[in-house]
Amino acid sequence: MKTVLVIGGGITGLSAMFELHKWKKANHSDVRLFLAEASCELGGKIRTVKDSGFVMEAGADSIVARKANTMSFIKDLNLESEIVYNASGKSFIYTDGELKPIPADAVFGIPTSVESLAKSTLVSAEGKVEALKDFYTKNESFTKNDSIGEFLEHFFGKELVEKQIAPVLSGVYSGKLSDLTIASTLPYILDYKEEYGSIIKGFEANKQKFQGGGEKKFLSFRNGLGKLIDAYEEKLEDVEILKNTKVSKIERGDNTYQVIFSNMETIEADYVVLSIPHSEAEKLFTNHEVIKDFSQLKTSSLISVYIGFDVPDSILPTDGTGFITSDTSELSCNACTWTSRKWEHTSETRNLLVRLFYKSSHPAYAALKDMNEEEILQVALGDIKKSLGITADPIAMEITNWTDSMPNYLISHPQTVAELESKLAVSYPGVWLAGCSYYGVGIPDCIENGASVAEKIIELL
Ligand code: FAD
Repeated sequence: MKTVLVIGGGITGLSAMFELHKWKKANHSDVRLFLAEASCELGGKIRTVKDSGFVMEAGADSIVARKANTMSFIKDLNLESEIVYNASGKSFIYTDGELKPIPADAVFGIPTSVESLAKSTLVSAEGKVEALKDFYTKNESFTKNDSIGEFLEHFFGKELVEKQIAPVLSGVYSGKLSDLTIASTLPYILDYKEEYGSIIKGFEANKQKFQGGGEKKFLSFRNGLGKLIDAYEEKLEDVEILKNTKVSKIERGDNTYQVIFSNMETIEADYVVLSIPHSEAEKLFTNHEVIKDFSQLKTSSLISVYIGFDVPDSILPTDGTGFITSDTSELSCNACTWTSRKWEHTSETRNLLVRLFYKSSHPAYAALKDMNEEEILQVALGDIKKSLGITADPIAMEITNWTDSMPNYLISHPQTVAELESKLAVSYPGVWLAGCSYYGVGIPDCIENGASVAEKIIELL
């Protein structure tokens, strides 16, 4: 009788277990399935909190609707009737003491026409003229492994990138544009440059792709994203789910692994999935070569602050759904989502719910990281007052400190992961890496990755 142990009950581990469990039932297999989760609940970076009529998400708040596998896992979990979509509206950049709209037709802040560039209120006349060099400069040396920041600056100049594109793009991909590759962000942008001679023309010709799905770009569930976790858990009736069970060591035996929990209990497993953050996975091994590779993988930090007010959300600018800040803003936050505007289900009473993001890339983070919740709340209220002029007392809040929890895919990332995989295959055959530290951070990517690791194990069962 074989045993599979999935370590980590986040969305990746749940997806892996869902596939293994489905196979076990369909094949009437006697394989034993264990899922070990360190905390008292499943979900990892997906956790819904409800308070004072508000629905708040400690981590992820939505799923990209247009990803190929999104609808299929939602169907597998019978969650179609629970889906809610985001309301679309204007996004702003807070810069020079005011909110300025991001041109509506821009994609990641990148203009999709000369008119879009011309009308932008974020960039000066000189900056716009400089950006026009995109139309007459050829790509001679950039490859997909080069930095997206350098690529964009080369063809658009500094100002458009700094004031309009970087705030959006570095928010989406969590990192400085100089540290992110073209491949890990907008891999098609090089093809656009080659094919259309200009990035702007490339986006103009492919606008449909980015506007596909109309307004409904992101989805969640009526009772929050935690519904996804509950739905997985309910389906795993033939899996031994071990909560409050932290794995502390993996030892290789002759043909199996001895997995040791922090309460000193052990499990013998034939196959092991490590769907935990790389910084946790690293601690389970003693092999120095493997540890060295794990330590090459990098993360950044983020503090998420929700504040609910007893004021109607209609006091915010019409159609707006939030703002991001430019490097030159005097706020401490990187972004502020007007959650009750963007997601109707998050506020029963239509009272205002906002979410502020404080990233470790921001100079203000150094002080914030050592603050207690009350102090962080005061900083957040200060940002709200400056940017939105709201001075009301909060009636709900949820602060989550994601220290060193946001994977940063550096230029060396794919190579490090490949090396790690091959070292594990030799030293720890039957142990697989999975999840956001390695193969994509978006929920659909994690689900796809979990399922594909499960398929590899199924082939061996
Ligand atoms: P995790 O969720 O990190 O799960 C790992 C699990 O392993 C945890 O439950 C942990 O407790 C457990 N664990 C750790 N060590 C051990 C151990 N030794 N033994 C046993 N268990 C252990 N993605 C989107 O698609 N949309 C979004 O809107 C979005 N927003 C985000 C906002 C924030 C603030 C954050 C932090 C992430 C966001 N993401 C978003 C990314 C997405 O949430 C994550 O990439 C994804 O949920 C990661 O899932 P995972 O299962 O790979 O890892």
